[in-house]
Amino acid sequence: MSTDQIIIIGAGIVGTSIAASLSRRGVPVLVVDAGEPLYGTSSANAGHFVPSHVLAFAAPGMVEAGFRSWRNRDGAFALNPSLRRDGAEWLARFVSACTDENVVKAAPALRGLFDLTRQQLERLVSAGADFDFQSGGLIQVFTEQSSLDGARHEIDVMRGLGVEVDELSSDQLLAAEPTLRGVAGGFRLVNDGRLDPALLLSGLKTEAIAHGAQYVSASVREIRPTSTGVNVVTTAGTMSGAQVVVAAGVWTPALVASLGVRLPIIAAKGYSVTVTGVANEPRLPLLLVDQRLAVTAMSRGLRITGRYELTNSSDRSIPPTRVAALVELARPVLGLAADVVTAEPWSGLRPASPDGLPVIGRLASDDRVLVCAGHGMLGTASGPGTGEAVASVICGESLAFDVAALSPERFGSIDVRGLGRGFRR
Ligand SMILES: Cc1cc2nc3c(=O)[nH]c(=O)nc-3n(C[C@H](O)[C@H](O)[C@H](O)COP(=O)(O)OP(=O)(O)OC[C@H]3O[C@@H](n4cnc5c(N)ncnc54)[C@H](O)[C@@H]3O)c2cc1C
Repeated sequence: MSTDQIIIIGAGIVGTSIAASLSRRGVPVLVVDAGEPLYGTSSANAGHFVPSHVLAFAAPGMVEAGFRSWRNRDGAFALNPSLRRDGAEWLARFVSACTDENVVKAAPALRGLFDLTRQQLERLVSAGADFDFQSGGLIQVFTEQSSLDGARHEIDVMRGLGVEVDELSSDQLLAAEPTLRGVAGGFRLVNDGRLDPALLLSGLKTEAIAHGAQYVSASVREIRPTSTGVNVVTTAGTMSGAQVVVAAGVWTPALVASLGVRLPIIAAKGYSVTVTGVANEPRLPLLLVDQRLAVTAMSRGLRITGRYELTNSSDRSIPPTRVAALVELARPVLGLAADVVTAEPWSGLRPASPDGLPVIGRLASDDRVLVCAGHGMLGTASGPGTGEAVASVICGESLAFDVAALSPERFGSIDVRGLGRGFRR
């Protein structure tokens, strides 16, 4: 395969990581991104670096958890009715993917991406990039004894997959994080960490440009394979490459649809807010499990993120009540004073695949087109590793894990009447 110019569609964490990995190898790269208003899912997320998350999001028990949350309207999970057929199909696939087999299949690929990401983060830090990286662990905090007890099975499975976890009693947790209130206990995921996602993105972009990558601001209308390569039709004209990587997050399915490919990736919207004026910030990044919030102390303030709303890819609305609810849910557990200042309300669209695994690989219908999307809740933690994996595929290098598990061809057709089967487990 020729390594002439590669066109990358999308400059989020995934596209930018691919650009950095390819250009470091001397491959000519052109990155096309539509910029605002689509830009940004990668910029203001929780910044959790979570190599512990080797359990796929689609796992036994998740259907019941999602259904409970939806029925109780507790704010963690919601479904936008406008999704109709796409939403029903995605849910049917999700239900059928919540199996032990999916967990077993997913773990090596996820671990492979996280390992590669860690190597890239450490390499960037030693090269002098500053993106607020700290790798001293992450704590899952429980305020309900019953959910703490219920989490032990999952922790055992994670340990069985090689994840290092320390259990913390409520006293140990309060000693580690004196700012917490009313906790039942928790688990420290020893090798996790945190970073500032916007700084990581800009560090990778700087590196890509330093190695010759070019960036163009334009919206891609169509991908047209030709006899000699692939044309990318954009609002700034038609661009030609030897190969194209579609890393356009939740907008990826629309871009590959004209190539006859139906990708079941939909948007899972979440919100973040950054709080300043907090007297005592937590030292480590936290998952407040019972509140379903992620909390990260960054140099720009205390970021609180949450919610998982399946919605359409043009829904970037930020209802003020949703953002306020994040702070109110976190307030009693973090002991936030009434006068803390909340800023930077944000929403982002996680590109969610129904089996909880990214979609990485060449299209069977045209192997000059690669898809790279569907990183769900883990795009920052697995993006730089994805860049390395894609560069290895394009440059014919070997990988320590089998990228075939992530192939875009893994989704067969599905009968939406199967929806509901998983509730009976
Ligand atoms: C609330 C929240 C918290 C999160 N917390 C974490 C976390 O702690 N850790 C973690 O690892 N992950 C986290 N995530 C997930 C992470 O943010 C995503 O997985 C990741 O940003 C996806 O990156 P991406 O590059 O695939 O997509 P995006 O960042 O959405 O990038 C896609 C790009 O494609 C461009 N594009 C789309 N269509 C076109 C077109 N037609 N032409 C040109 N350009 C186009 C867009 O402008 C955009 O820049 C969180 C997400 C949310 C919403």
